[in-house]
Amino acid sequence: MPLRVAIVGRPNVGKSTLFNRLAGRKLALVDDTPGVTRDRREHEVRFGDFDLTLIDTAGLEDAKEGALEARMRAGTEKAISLADITLFLVDGRAGITAFDQELAGILRSGGKPVVLVVNKTEGRGADGIYDAYSLGLGEPVPISAEHGEGMADLYEAIRPHAEGRAEAVKAEALEWDDPLKPLRVAIVGRPNAGKSTLVNSILGEDRLLVGPEAGITRDTISVEWTWRGEDRDWPVKLFDTAGMRKRSRVQDRLEKMSVGDTIRAIRFAEVVVVMLDVTQPFEKQDLQIADLAVREGRAVVLAANKWDLIEDRTEMGVALREMASRLLPQLPGVPIVTFSALTGQGLRKLMPAITKVYVDWNAQVKTSAFNEWLGQATTAHPPPAVRGRRIKMRYGAQIKTRPPTFFVHCQRADEVPDSYQRYLVNAIRDAFEIQAVPIRLYLRKGE
Ligand code: GDP
Ligand code: GDP
Repeated sequence: MPLRVAIVGRPNVGKSTLFNRLAGRKLALVDDTPGVTRDRREHEVRFGDFDLTLIDTAGLEDAKEGALEARMRAGTEKAISLADITLFLVDGRAGITAFDQELAGILRSGGKPVVLVVNKTEGRGADGIYDAYSLGLGEPVPISAEHGEGMADLYEAIRPHAEGRAEAVKAEALEWDDPLKPLRVAIVGRPNAGKSTLVNSILGEDRLLVGPEAGITRDTISVEWTWRGEDRDWPVKLFDTAGMRKRSRVQDRLEKMSVGDTIRAIRFAEVVVVMLDVTQPFEKQDLQIADLAVREGRAVVLAANKWDLIEDRTEMGVALREMASRLLPQLPGVPIVTFSALTGQGLRKLMPAITKVYVDWNAQVKTSAFNEWLGQATTAHPPPAVRGRRIKMRYGAQIKTRPPTFFVHCQRADEVPDSYQRYLVNAIRDAFEIQAVPIRLYLRKGE
């Protein structure tokens, strides 16, 4: 059954236009008058290499039921109930309105995955895109429905849902602090880094398992078990790229890295374990994989495997740290766990590192604490003057977790040098002890 996708948003953001673009033909009437289309619209379409059932909320509004906004609310709720995922459209030109915020609230509490889409972004800067972060619905996808721009990104955003339909829907509906919710982990890396050996070792390693009664469940793409941590048990769900490859090897014996599998694994995961062969660490592909994980906003652990082959471990440990900070500056403080998947030596350090970065990734900073910090940080090291005038940073807040994302309102946001932004990010790390995960900071133009 195709993934059911509802397109929701306030009137005039471009829902019908996007609907038509995805459907590839004129199905719905597009008009500048808000709410001009009234028919129920549901249509099977092919998007790239998968099928979708598109549901347009315009058809779900009951014209008899009071004011337009009340109908929109009801229509949005109905769309959530009918769809597997919703595409929430906002207008990148008009900016985020109070009603967008309200619909976002309904979507957030709806418990189903939402892809946030900023429309009408053709030929413009990214202003409206940053505002969209305030909706708390994750990374916005900029598109122009009218001009067909951003469709590849939209495809990438929908794809994981279409591929792991049941999987994704279930996982996203669960809250992070739910102790029953499995922590989603992916192990990625170059061919021969030792991924399959690691998966086998983990699963064969009794100390990591709660016991046969908890059991290990295995389906086509994942392995699930419970790890007994120091403070609590952690149900873990591992995306099994190694297992997938083993199966596909029947047809294809070539040992090449499947970029598609790697991307899928990274999108699926909360924590990405980038596995390095420590006899050839930090090759180009390793860096590309790590960078991809960072760009996707995942928490990352570097796993240096085949430690049994290293003679001078002290020297190698220092070298790995040095290489990581030089070659992966986007991941300061990333944990590097050294072990041998083959002998099992050092393996017990892996799960604690994974749960630690996961906790950091979910870090929440109170607005009051953040602003107190902002005052101190900008006093200790004031923003530089540009053309003789000091840039004032007024206030800020955390706008989302996973990864921790902050904004700071300031004058002339465009003119703040990168070095000052880096200073702020590092100061956030130190102040709130968020060491091992990417931190995003947006400077927003304010008065
Ligand atoms: P709906 O009420 O949300 O379904 O919005 P429509 O699809 O009817 O679009 C409302 C208006 O926005 C129409 O005039 C569209 O032509 C226009 N529109 C839709 N997409 C875009 C876009 O990507 N860029 C621009 N500039 N206008 C768009
Ligand atoms: P994958 O392609 O990443 O899944 O890698 P495999 O798990 O298939 O391992 C590739 C090769 O490296 C195999 O020959 C493994 O036996 C070997 N290997 C994996 N882990 C270790 C390790 O910790 N030490 C040593 N010496 N060899 C290992």
